[in-house]
Amino acid sequence: MDFSFTADERAFQAETRAFLDAKLTPDLRRAQALTPSVFAEPDVTLRWHRILFEQGWAAPAWPEEFGGPGWSVAQRYIFEVETALAGAPPLNPLGLRMVGPVIMKFGSPAQQRFYLPRILSGEDYWCQGYSEPGSGSDLASLRTRAVRDGTHYVVNGSKIWTTHAHHANRMFALLRTGDGPRKQDGISFFLIDTSSPGISIRPILTIGGDHEVNQVFFDDVRVPAENLVGREGHGWGYGKYLLEFERGGAMASGRLRAALRAVETMARRYRDGEEPVLGDPDVATRLSEIEIDIDALEMTELRVMSSLQTGQNPGAMSSSLLKLRGSELQQAISRLAVAVLGTDALFFEPRRPLYALNEPALLPDDALPVVAKYLDARAYTIFGGTSEIQRDIMAKALIGI
Ligand SMILES: Cc1cc2nc3c(=O)[nH]c(=O)nc-3n(C[C@H](O)[C@H](O)[C@H](O)COP(=O)(O)OP(=O)(O)OC[C@H]3O[C@@H](n4cnc5c(N)ncnc54)[C@H](O)[C@@H]3O)c2cc1C
Repeated sequence: MDFSFTADERAFQAETRAFLDAKLTPDLRRAQALTPSVFAEPDVTLRWHRILFEQGWAAPAWPEEFGGPGWSVAQRYIFEVETALAGAPPLNPLGLRMVGPVIMKFGSPAQQRFYLPRILSGEDYWCQGYSEPGSGSDLASLRTRAVRDGTHYVVNGSKIWTTHAHHANRMFALLRTGDGPRKQDGISFFLIDTSSPGISIRPILTIGGDHEVNQVFFDDVRVPAENLVGREGHGWGYGKYLLEFERGGAMASGRLRAALRAVETMARRYRDGEEPVLGDPDVATRLSEIEIDIDALEMTELRVMSSLQTGQNPGAMSSSLLKLRGSELQQAISRLAVAVLGTDALFFEPRRPLYALNEPALLPDDALPVVAKYLDARAYTIFGGTSEIQRDIMAKALIGI
């Protein structure tokens, strides 16, 4: 897309590119390119996080008072696009983009002083304790209970599909502290130290063979009462506020564009007989269709971003719309990549992490993670709320119920 930037914005773009040339090392770029799962491993993301933190660029969407860089919408857009096109690993969003805004808005001053600097620097690594066996789309039916006992709450129950719980030292969690007329009543929002006695973690391998998600068990876990965010029983509202940032807080179009370019490059190299696969009208048409859809998503992202103050929540309607379109496009790109690969897709490489393989791989770097990415990308329309749930939220907002 061709935007006319001001002279200052062009200077910022040049500064960002120079920074990326200097600091985004080839091994970081390669590790990201070879990461099939939705989240890169912390040994990759935290290295990049610390580099951005030193530059003061770790949290582009945060208000300046909490350590954000004070960028305009155009600067944020430039930064997101340039880092995506350069192949930088996306930072773990669970602290920076998800629980950070909740602590800023609903946390106590003591919680803000303690947690926000640690999120900004990457010292703390967070996971999300929302879903439970039997409580996914119907999240408000959750049953993991926190019972007040003097200065602590005692937690019993289980969370499931907890991304990177095995790496995290902190979890934000929705827990039941009471029962009311509606199932949304009596839910509270807690910040939990995952090294607390009584927490155990069981890995779940996803369809692509990755260990990304887990089931987490709580057995009489004592959580200090000062780790409750806001008011007891009001966690459902805070939890939904967080979901707006989870669903609509990223500029996904830059990363989608980078992924599509990678498929296009592969389609130039791969041959179908004598012809490059790119010459196949079906492939060329699909590339163009997806590119147009990315343009449309980008315009929507810019429209939403430019209507918000820094740090403001995007709103339920916009966040569901962005999540729905972004996740469908992720899957469309991953499907097209498999089609370009043809029979090479049979050489699926289940060993992980791909960037640390010692023996020679079966395929070149650009083709190596394609099938695993395709399999892992099935999750995009599930996590953060399924596509059916996003459509439901938008329909209700439109009809006004
Ligand atoms: C890779 C991955 C990572 C995840 N990471 C996390 C995490 O870190 N933390 C966390 O808390 N959770 C996480 N999740 C869980 C995720 O949020 C849930 O899987 C999701 O909300 C769906 O819930 P469910 O799996 O219980 O499916 P269900 O709710 O049982 O849904 C099953 C099917 O029924 C449909 N359905 C359900 N209700 C309705 C309805 N009312 N109308 C129409 N259709 C409906 C759904 O759309 C879906 O197709 C993750 C999931 C995945 C796959």
